[in-house]
Amino acid sequence: MRQVSRTLRRALKVSIGAAAGAIACAVVAVGGADGAGVFSERPSLPMTMVVVAVAALVALAVIRRVQYTPPSARAQRVSFWLAAATDLADLELALTLVAGAHLVVAVTGGLASPAYPVLYGLVAFSMTVLARPGAFATLGAALLLEAALLVRTGITETTALAAGIHATFLAGAAAAHVLLLRGLTARYRRRRAARLDEELVALRESAKDYRLIAAALGPASRAPRPRDEEERLLAIGGVGMIGDSASWVLSTLKRSLGAHTVAMLWLDDDGERLKLVEVASDADDITETPKLPSAGVLGAILRDKAPLIVAATKPGQLPYYAGGRAGVALVAVPILEGVHLRGILAADREAAFTEADRDLLSDASAQVLRCVQSEQVFRAVERAKYEHERFYQATAMLGRALTPEQVMETAFDAAAAICDYDVAAIAMYEKDRQKHRITAVRVRPGGEGLVDKAQLENLEFKDNAGLASMVVKNRHYLPSGGEPREVSAPIYTRKVKLDDAKSLLVLPLLCADEPVGTLTLVARAEKRFGKDVREMLAVIANQVAVSLENGFLYKKMETMATTDGLTGLTNHRTFQTKFAEMLDRAARHNHKVALLLCDVDHFKKVNDGYGHPIGDEVLRRVARVLQEVPRKIDVPARYGGEEFAVLLDNVDVAQAKAVAERIRIEISKVVVETEKGPLSVTESVGVAAFPEDGRDRATLIERADLALYHAKHTGRNRVVTWAEALAAKTKKAS
Ligand code: GH3
Ligand code: MG
Ligand code: MG
Repeated sequence: MRQVSRTLRRALKVSIGAAAGAIACAVVAVGGADGAGVFSERPSLPMTMVVVAVAALVALAVIRRVQYTPPSARAQRVSFWLAAATDLADLELALTLVAGAHLVVAVTGGLASPAYPVLYGLVAFSMTVLARPGAFATLGAALLLEAALLVRTGITETTALAAGIHATFLAGAAAAHVLLLRGLTARYRRRRAARLDEELVALRESAKDYRLIAAALGPASRAPRPRDEEERLLAIGGVGMIGDSASWVLSTLKRSLGAHTVAMLWLDDDGERLKLVEVASDADDITETPKLPSAGVLGAILRDKAPLIVAATKPGQLPYYAGGRAGVALVAVPILEGVHLRGILAADREAAFTEADRDLLSDASAQVLRCVQSEQVFRAVERAKYEHERFYQATAMLGRALTPEQVMETAFDAAAAICDYDVAAIAMYEKDRQKHRITAVRVRPGGEGLVDKAQLENLEFKDNAGLASMVVKNRHYLPSGGEPREVSAPIYTRKVKLDDAKSLLVLPLLCADEPVGTLTLVARAEKRFGKDVREMLAVIANQVAVSLENGFLYKKMETMATTDGLTGLTNHRTFQTKFAEMLDRAARHNHKVALLLCDVDHFKKVNDGYGHPIGDEVLRRVARVLQEVPRKIDVPARYGGEEFAVLLDNVDVAQAKAVAERIRIEISKVVVETEKGPLSVTESVGVAAFPEDGRDRATLIERADLALYHAKHTGRNRVVTWAEALAAKTKKAS
């Protein structure tokens, strides 16, 4: 209940003015006043009262609107009426003013009144100043009252024409002002945007002046684009901070010296022109041109890098005044970073400067410089953080690589994350043989033609006077500055030419301080391998070395898992897998596959007569024959004990038998020297082939075994195919 009454009270309070305005309009509309009634000899009392009342209302509405304060945003959120209060206040003003203006029109001659411009002006004013509801209420009320006036006067051709013209003017005034307003706003926005752009350009300029963007790393070693952007933002932030503290220092100086102007001038990149970067001044003729000539007094400071006191300046000696003020006292000190001149700090006033003033200025210049330096340090830390991230990424990449080949490729990727090289190569070093062999080469886009990739790949060379050999010997990268012109030695051998390279770095791959090889990076552009980059690459190179060793270990373990320790042939398990794969492929492509099963004859006698170690040696020699006789694509395997299997890809039974014969003959030629004299062995071979002798692994093995068994039983040192064994069996049976 209380809630409702409060809402009602609130509604009444905020809308009463608008209601009064509406009533005033209504009164004027029905003809509450006209000129005859008001200005006659005996004015009509009610009409005069209406005029006075409306005039009072207008005055009240104007006062109320001027004093009006909108409710707080919070209040507007909780109450509909409070949210509408401002619009209702506008409405009150609009309606009362229109009522007042129409009253003036009514008493000054109605449709023929000369007071119409007041009404047009009122509409234009509302359109420009009031919010939309108030503005349109003004236009609407004016049009309605115009219609009411027309009706009251009586509709004839003349009156309708007059009212029509008035209505057109009202609408025209409204439209013109809406357009004008919009144009103004747009222009204002454009101007603001342009100003903002100028500010940004100026900021960027200042960043360059303070040497925040010109990274210590040098342009070549800088990271790719997104980093540039990041640096720019960082630098702009830095400029803000430098500007703040510099301006504080300058205004403090100005106060304590009682100076007209204290100016900080900064030397541009090429060290030739001065730029006014910060100024504290009472003068209103400080130059607008940021770049100043560095002749005269300031030129002397640039030349001598020493402070200067001048009793009275000559015309044009103070370039930061547009008028080049003469006859004032000047003190100026260089802003020195070590021995490098960065800028000038200058102050001027009427009274002459003392040496104490000069010292104060010198202290201040050190302060400004410290501020710039701390910004530079801050930025260096930020940059280092970024480099660390890249560094971490590169290391993480290396951690994921498994085989030596993967490690080498990843090493090239990791190096690319740190620097911009064109060609990279890894050479492995064999300590025992003192030999280097290039095992991987990468030519990045743009590096074509810098080296002959084919010449590099698998290039082998002995320790020599070349860089790679020296790097391995010294365990430190070369050339120490990352540029080939510092050294005249070839990288690998004299034959490898790198005439176009302007940047060069050969890094040792150190694993537990032992060199396992070298990583060489080459670039056409200059200064690609700056100090920071070299240091990072040196660490990465060691990481590469460790990963390479791990890679070799991994490869070794993989080999151990798939090969037989005694003979180095494929072991039984891997033989089965490869056999299955080969059969699959053969079935798909309509190929043939042959299987040879070999068994050394009377091997027990070898073991018994010569001892197990000699038996092992015989097995190794047999294995070597099996590796040498077939082609590379064929798979010789140790099937078990002194039994071997050979898989021959895409070979029919006749060809397989021929290969088996060659193997048999070669084995019979093997001679193992023993204490008991030379030892030779023979072996028997069984042959079965896909698809004619069987389509699956088990059948083929069983039939090759049967053929082998037949070979053993028909005298040994023989090759027998399954078809032959089968034919012999049927013959015997019949
Ligand atoms: P056959 O001509 O019938 O094949 O006669 P064999 O004596 O070769 O007979 P069998 O194939 O059954 O003999 C296998 C022998 O090979 C038994 C085992 O002592 C020996 N042997 C198996 N593996 C090895 C090995 O790794 N090293 C050595 N030295 N001997 C092995
Ligand atoms: Mg056997
Ligand atoms: Mg045997």
